[in-house]
Amino acid sequence: MNYIVIKGKCISCGLCISICPDVFCYDEEGIAVAYNEATGEVANLAQEAMESCPTEAIERP
Ligand code: SF4
Repeated sequence: MNYIVIKGKCISCGLCISICPDVFCYDEEGIAVAYNEATGEVANLAQEAMESCPTEAIERP
């Protein structure tokens, strides 16, 4: 399962990264990015990260 972060919506709160660091990290500008596919055991955490984002910046394309 792939995710994308809408750059203009991300406020760099770090929540998605703390919930699911296997999928989300900061890019060089300090904006969250989905750098990895969410497969297997990570899928639930990535889903939780998406649902927890305060600005709804994470989407599934
Ligand atoms: S939870 Fe949302 S606002 Fe916070 S860093 Fe992740 S994408 Fe950005």
